[in-house]
Amino acid sequence: MNFKVDLSGQVALITGAGRGIGRAIAIALADAGALVCVNDINPDTARATAEEILASGGQAFDYVADVSLKMQIGSMIEAARDRWGRLDILINNAGVEPKASVLALDEWDWERTINVNLKGTFLCTQLAGRVMRDQGSGIIVNIASIAGHKSPLPNASAYCASKAGVVGFTRECAREFAAFGIRVNAVCPGVIITPMTQKSRDDPDIMRKWMEDIPQNRLGETAEVAAAVLFLCSGAASYVNGHALIVDGGKVMG
Ligand code: NAP
Repeated sequence: MNFKVDLSGQVALITGAGRGIGRAIAIALADAGALVCVNDINPDTARATAEEILASGGQAFDYVADVSLKMQIGSMIEAARDRWGRLDILINNAGVEPKASVLALDEWDWERTINVNLKGTFLCTQLAGRVMRDQGSGIIVNIASIAGHKSPLPNASAYCASKAGVVGFTRECAREFAAFGIRVNAVCPGVIITPMTQKSRDDPDIMRKWMEDIPQNRLGETAEVAAAVLFLCSGAASYVNGHALIVDGGKVMG
C-alpha cells in the first residue's frame, strides 16, 4: 500500500493480531516505525506475526492474553510499558462471530461474543486509557463492523449487538478522553478476506449476494482496513475524533 505515515518510536498494542485484519494492522504500524505489542489468544499465530515484523527489521513482541480477562490485559499493558516505557496506540481488533439465528443461539455464544468483542474493547480501553491519560496523549482505534453500524448480518445477532455497542462506546470514549489528548475512532469493515469470513466465502449463494451489494464488485483486503487504521493513527487525522469510518467498497453508503 503506497501510503506513508511516520509512527517512529510510538508504542502500539494490537489485539487479535495473530491473523487476519489484526495481523495486517500490526505489520502496517510496524512498517510505519511503531514498536508493536502483538496480542492474540493463540500463542502460535501471535508469535508468527511478531517474528514476521522482526524479520523485516521492525520491533515487536508477542503477548498471549484473552481480551475478556482484566488481569491478563493489565499484565500485557505492563509488559509493553516495561519494555518501551509508554503506550501510544491501542487497536481493539480481537473478535469472534458465532453463526446462529436468534431463536437457536446458544447463551454461551452470546456471552462469549459480548465478552470478547465489547467487554474486551472496554477493558483494554480502560486500562490503556489510564496510561494514556497520565501521558497526556494517545490514540485508540476500535475495529467495529458495518454489521453493527448500518448493515446487519443474517444469523449474527450477538455479533451485530456487540459491534453496535463498540460504535456507541467509541463515541462516548471520544467525548470523555478528548480532555486527556486521546482521540478515539472506529473502523467499520465490510466483507474482508480473512479466516473469519472463510466459511461464508466458500458458499456460492452468499458470495453472489455479497457481490450484488458491493459496488466495487470485490471483497476487501486486510491491507485496505490497515490503511484506514494507519490514517486514523496519523497526524493527518489530528482533528478526527468519535468517527466510525466505513471501509466496505460502497456496500452501505454513508
Ligand atoms: P479472525 O481472522 O478470526 O482473527 C481474529 C483474531 O482474534 C484471531 O487471531 C483470534 O484468535 C483472536 N481472538 C479471538 N478471541 C480473542 C480473545 N479473547 N483475546 C485475544 N484474541 C482473540 O478475524 P478478522 O476477520 O481478522 O477480524 C478482526 C476484527 O475485524 C474482528 O473484530 C472482526 O469482528 C472485525 N471485522 C471483520 C470483518 C471481516 O469481514 N473479516 C468485517 C468486519 C469486522 P484465534 O485464532 O484463536 O481465534
